[in-house]
Amino acid sequence: MSGFTNQQQNRMRSLPSVHKLAYHPAIVNWREEYSYTAEEVTALAQQLIEQERKRLLSGEGEPQECHQNIDDWVMQLKEAVEKLHTPSIVPVINGTGIILHTNLGRAVLSERAVEQMVQVARSYSNLEYNVAAGSRGSRHELVEHLVTRITGAEAAMVVNNNAAAVFLILRELAKGREVLISRGQLVEIGGSFRISEIMEESGAILREVGTTNKTHPYDYERAISSETALVMRVHTSNFTITGFTEEVRLPELVQIAHSRELPVYEDLGSGVLYDLAGHGIGQEPVASAVIKAGADVISFSGDKLLGGPQAGIIAGKSELINRLKKNQLARILRVDKVTLAALEATLLAYLKPELAIKEIPTLRAILTPADEIKARVYAFAGRLKEQTHIEVRICKGESEVGGGTLPGVRLPTWTAAIRCASMSTASLEKAFRRYQPAIIGRVQDDWFILDFRTIHHSQEGTILLAINQIVDP
Ligand SMILES: *Cc1c(COP(=O)(O)O)cnc(C)c1O
Repeated sequence: MSGFTNQQQNRMRSLPSVHKLAYHPAIVNWREEYSYTAEEVTALAQQLIEQERKRLLSGEGEPQECHQNIDDWVMQLKEAVEKLHTPSIVPVINGTGIILHTNLGRAVLSERAVEQMVQVARSYSNLEYNVAAGSRGSRHELVEHLVTRITGAEAAMVVNNNAAAVFLILRELAKGREVLISRGQLVEIGGSFRISEIMEESGAILREVGTTNKTHPYDYERAISSETALVMRVHTSNFTITGFTEEVRLPELVQIAHSRELPVYEDLGSGVLYDLAGHGIGQEPVASAVIKAGADVISFSGDKLLGGPQAGIIAGKSELINRLKKNQLARILRVDKVTLAALEATLLAYLKPELAIKEIPTLRAILTPADEIKARVYAFAGRLKEQTHIEVRICKGESEVGGGTLPGVRLPTWTAAIRCASMSTASLEKAFRRYQPAIIGRVQDDWFILDFRTIHHSQEGTILLAINQIVDP
């Protein structure tokens, strides 16, 4: 152990041996009671000790309190084993007010979608079987008729997500050839999706047109050549360019492209099927308006404003969609039956717009009036039992739609701001976050804030219980 300080040597000597920990009587009895195997317990014991050894060697701080004696190690090991046997993806309560929170799983599915998923998952299904004809069917056809009805397109298909849709479209329609796109639309979404990089991976050649703030019709006209395969528009879904800006409007772009026999593809990003702009919320064009304006292909996400499962929906001219369906990538990017079941149930709601806004949690959360939320926060605060330590204020706030959609849209909302005399606000936030289920809010001006726009009525009881346990354990 030369090269280490005396202190480091002493600390490492204090580590238990793997055998001593894994075969500690308290562990052996416990593991037999819960039928955990000796192998997994030993492996985890080794991992825990190794982690601590590395930490001590790196000189990062003192031995942790939880590793002071063998009983502490035993407790740590039990926790590690239990954690291994517990699902790691679990529900959380979203008090951030961000409706489509990418880190929290984006859209919450409708009850109808959840029921449909469960039914299809529990049983065999007609995923690729045409029951009426007694012959092989296509999974694409399961939702195609709904997408075409809702968007007005001739044909449609579904892939894993919208990033996959963009990739498939560029690959099939423009591999080795040029795609024209305005510089103002070269977007990055969520740090992991860049149009320019997807384009490069797909084998299509990016041909930038115009400038960041202004692109004119003649910019496209001049850029079209025998190398051009596609004209692409990307909906700048997660930012707004304001001021001295100009983009070529879709009908005009369609005219330019079609006069040179080129297809136009619009990546809509969010994919609005319900007219939110009609409620004065944002300016997202509904998918059917984009098809009507002449786009030959469109694509959008299933789990953004549509409010369904993760999916990429492609709609457009039959001739182009048929080519996409035949591409080998369609097989690689296909979605499973559970996703299709959820997507179909979500799309069914859109056949009746008044049903969509009642059934689909994402639309409901966006459209809930601030007064309704206010009444709920007041009722919630009224149910808090008299606590000397805790202070709750009801405050006005602003929710965001999030998920890289409706940039700049702020929805007026009401929040519960919580503070505690016996605990710092940072500790309070941590305690809520580590509660089961985790309750995620934000800290602002030394208050812990919960926005009730994204909290379901049925979760309020859990939050009340959490407050009582955290503040008054
Ligand atoms: C969100 C988004 C994507 C990526 O969609 P995913 O479904 O997250 O893969 C692509 N393009 C635009 C314009 C988007 O807003």
